[in-house]
Amino acid sequence: MKIRAQIAMVLNLDKCIGCHTCSVTCKNVWTNREGVEYAWFNNVETKPGVGYPREWENQTKWNGGWRRKRNGKIEPKIGAKWRILANIFANPDLPEIDDYYEPFTFDYEHLHTAKESKAFPTARPRSLVSGERMEKIEWGPNWEEILGGEFEKRSKDVNFEGIEKEIYGQFENTFMMYLPRLCEHCLNPACAAVCPSGAIYKREEDGIVLIDQDKCRGWRMCVSGCPYKKIYYNWSSGKSEKCIFCYPRIEAGQPTVCSETCVGRIRYLGVLLYDADRIEAAASVPDEKDLYQAQLDLFLDPKDPKVIAQARADGVPEAWIEAALTSPIWKMAMDWKVAFPLHPEYRTLPMVWYVPPLSPIQSAAAAGRMGLDGDMPDVRSLRIPLQYLANLLTAGNEDPVALALERMLAMRGYMRAKSIDGRIDERIAEKVGLTG
Ligand code: SF4
Ligand code: SF4
Repeated sequence: MKIRAQIAMVLNLDKCIGCHTCSVTCKNVWTNREGVEYAWFNNVETKPGVGYPREWENQTKWNGGWRRKRNGKIEPKIGAKWRILANIFANPDLPEIDDYYEPFTFDYEHLHTAKESKAFPTARPRSLVSGERMEKIEWGPNWEEILGGEFEKRSKDVNFEGIEKEIYGQFENTFMMYLPRLCEHCLNPACAAVCPSGAIYKREEDGIVLIDQDKCRGWRMCVSGCPYKKIYYNWSSGKSEKCIFCYPRIEAGQPTVCSETCVGRIRYLGVLLYDADRIEAAASVPDEKDLYQAQLDLFLDPKDPKVIAQARADGVPEAWIEAALTSPIWKMAMDWKVAFPLHPEYRTLPMVWYVPPLSPIQSAAAAGRMGLDGDMPDVRSLRIPLQYLANLLTAGNEDPVALALERMLAMRGYMRAKSIDGRIDERIAEKVGLTG
């Protein structure tokens, strides 16, 4: 066993309001420069949606990589032999600039200049680049939420795994959630593995993944290799860049910019201790549905004196051991099991964890005494389909996500009961761990 420390983040999606403050503050600090205008180290996606870059979740299993789809067909359409040659002489799997985004605005003027009519005037979305109506361009990150009623158009490229399209298309069943995304600072980083220059490395002391700008030769294999598409090519410097987990701030004892400025207070930072000798085994578990549990099993209980002694012997700095002892990530991901890795089936062992959203919660459940007197709603009847969340967070394994949602519902019920009359239902008390 070889113990290492990893800094990690939990994002509580139940609290994200999609305000994009995190993205804007991150951009102002890290990518407000020539060459990376299009790059958002942190972005907030509307889900279900095409994402940023477009369709980043469309991983084709036959070659383990990302392919852009055009008119429903995967590109480039070449055979395995040619693919090997193409990979030697070029890198055909790169997103292009058009795959990142089409910035758009709204026709606000129309609100003042529209002719009198029975219907209210609306401000339609319009491309900032070409001036065309966005309906013609048919895409842009987050624009799914602009076209609430135009389901057919917006559903064309959306990843609907786990959703029955016909049901989602009905207004009363539709749902929306936000997914803030950043580099996952993976335990098994694909970007580092594919870099021909050896420029990408994982810091020994805290696991932050960085690109040595002096060594980077601009091959961009990392851009195609990262399944989360969280590396960006700087066209001005000719080097690749990515989220650096605000390491200068972390070293000074400060939180990342996105965490500090988050309006919803959804982000938690903490340190985990893990067994570095078991990474390969955890990443290569044969059944995808076991990957979440295999990832969990890598982490060691910081309250165990044997773990602390071994961590000291392995050279983990004292400050990191202390941080691990009070880590909210350990509490939420390993102890309470309410936080999950994003797409564990990519097998990079991502270190940004997500608490699944409960909302929009059924109106009955939200009407005051939710969860009191044994009337806890069934998590399978919540508006966001369980299978959809499981496909995002546990490679399709519904049970752990259902348990997390039940716990969150119970906690909500418990807090409400406490504030109403202090009468706590036994089932709720059990679920939040107040009995036995
Ligand atoms: Fe590398 Fe991508 Fe993982 Fe970040 S998310 S460490 S860029 S593989
Ligand atoms: Fe969500 Fe916080 Fe970002 Fe706002 S600042 S979009 S609440 S993560």
